[in-house]
This record gives sequence, structure tokens and C-alpha cells, in this order.
Amino acid sequence: MKQRPTFPARLEPQATGARPTPAKLVSGIGLPVLNRPQGLGMDSAAHRQRLVQLLQKQGVRDEAVLAAMGHVERHRFVDSALVNQAYEDTSLPIGLGQTISKPGVVSRMIELLRNGNAGKLGRVLEIGTGCGYQAAVLSQLAQEVYSIERLRGLHDKARENLRHFRLPNVHLLFGDGRVGYAQGAPYAAIIAAAGGEAVPQAWIDQLAVGGRLVAPVVRDGSQGGAQALLVLDKTSGGVRQTLLEAVHFVPLKSGVA
Ligand code: SAH
Repeated sequence: MKQRPTFPARLEPQATGARPTPAKLVSGIGLPVLNRPQGLGMDSAAHRQRLVQLLQKQGVRDEAVLAAMGHVERHRFVDSALVNQAYEDTSLPIGLGQTISKPGVVSRMIELLRNGNAGKLGRVLEIGTGCGYQAAVLSQLAQEVYSIERLRGLHDKARENLRHFRLPNVHLLFGDGRVGYAQGAPYAAIIAAAGGEAVPQAWIDQLAVGGRLVAPVVRDGSQGGAQALLVLDKTSGGVRQTLLEAVHFVPLKSGVA
């Protein structure tokens, strides 16, 4: 099995002989503590806190989102050669031509998804698991996370990455996310990490009334496929769509590979 990157390298759990502790709940905020081998963590925790400060400067206000971003060990989702960039606000390659999303975009989208609600989201559907990072962040803020990936290699990689954290509320699915996952519907929230020309009807159908979808979409008539962030609210009276700032996501593709 591939060696997982650690942060920093000299604090390998194997080297310290520390064993991961099972996830547990922190009272008050209800955030599961992700497994962290003892003796590892202070350095990466400090890096995460600096990242959280950066996200705050960028305008992220939702305390639960900031707590989740401060919690999830992003360095465990990137290749060992990239570990020292794991807490920069940048996307990084994860193989097969795909990228782990920028923390700034992950937190912005999840903040939009939560829409100021104090409690946890119910069931959330994520399209584009990639390496599994955003699914781990969502697992802190939702009751159940269903995450679909169309590339077998990344679906497997995400499973391997997430095994360490033991998150029983994350369900990884292999398939074409454009058709959603009807078995888990209706969803309180849907979030896409890949951008297409339009939001597939299946996503809107599978969104609960009162639910919100956040996805990158290619702007109408844009040259070169420029994308913007779309927020779609489903109400009993229909859907309300708002186009926000420009974003850069990998394309939403069809089929599996
Ligand atoms: N959520 C990831 C981001 C992964 S990048 C993170 O935490 O950083 C987006 C992913 O969407 C890629 O892995 C790509 O393969 C996947 N993707 C693209 N089209 C898809 C589709 N139709 N169904 C499922 N996944 C898709």
C-alpha cells in the first residue's frame, strides 16, 4: 500500500509508534474529532489555523465552516511531494488530470450551501469526489454525505484517503454524477466540484424543496468555457437561480472511466 503523506515528514505515525484514535464528538459544536495519531498534529494544526485566518480575511464568516476547515487534515489528501503546499490556498494535482479544490473555494461553497443555518445539513450530495477532501469537510457539517466520482482511480484513492478518518456518514459512489443518486434523495444540499454547461435536471429533481444547490456552470455564450458559481434554491414555487463570481473548476464530464 502507498505510504500516506504526513506533515511534517519526520512525524510519521509509524515512527512515533502512535495509533490513530477513533473519531469522537466534541460537545457543544458537535464536530467529530478526526483521527490524529498522537504526537502528530501540532505543526499541521498551526498551518491549518493560519489557513483559517486567511479564509476569514477572504470573507468566510460561518464559524462551523471555519472550524471544519481548521479540523480536516488536507495534507492527508495530497501526494507526499505536495504536502508542504497542503495549507496554501491553492488547488493541487491529484492525478488523472484532476485537482483538489482550493480551500478558499471549498469554504465559500459550503458557506453558501449552509446559508447561515445554525444546525447541521441533512443529506448532502457531492458530485466529483476527487481525492475526498471536500467530502471530509462536508462530513463535519452534514448528517450524511453521498459523494460520486466518475474516475475509478480517484474513487479508489478517495476511499483509501478517507479510511484513515473513519467517517461513517460519508458514502462514496462510483458513477456518472450527472444523473445524481436517486436512492439518497431528496437532498438538503447538492454541491458540484466540476462545471458543465447547465445544471442537470436530475440534480434539481433530487434536491428537497427548501434545499440549495451550489455548482460551477459555464456562462452562457462564454468564449473558452468561463465558469461562474451558481446558487440554486428550490422552493415550493419553483427554482430561484443566482449567478455569483467567476470560478475555475475541471469540466463536468459524462460517463465513467
Ligand atoms: N471534491 C474534490 C474536487 C475534485 S475535482 C476535492 O475535495 O478537492 C472534481 C472531480 O469531479 C474530478 O475528480 C472529476 O473526475 C469529477 N467529475 C467530473 N465529472 C464528473 C461526473 N459526471 N460525475 C462524477 N464526477 C465527475
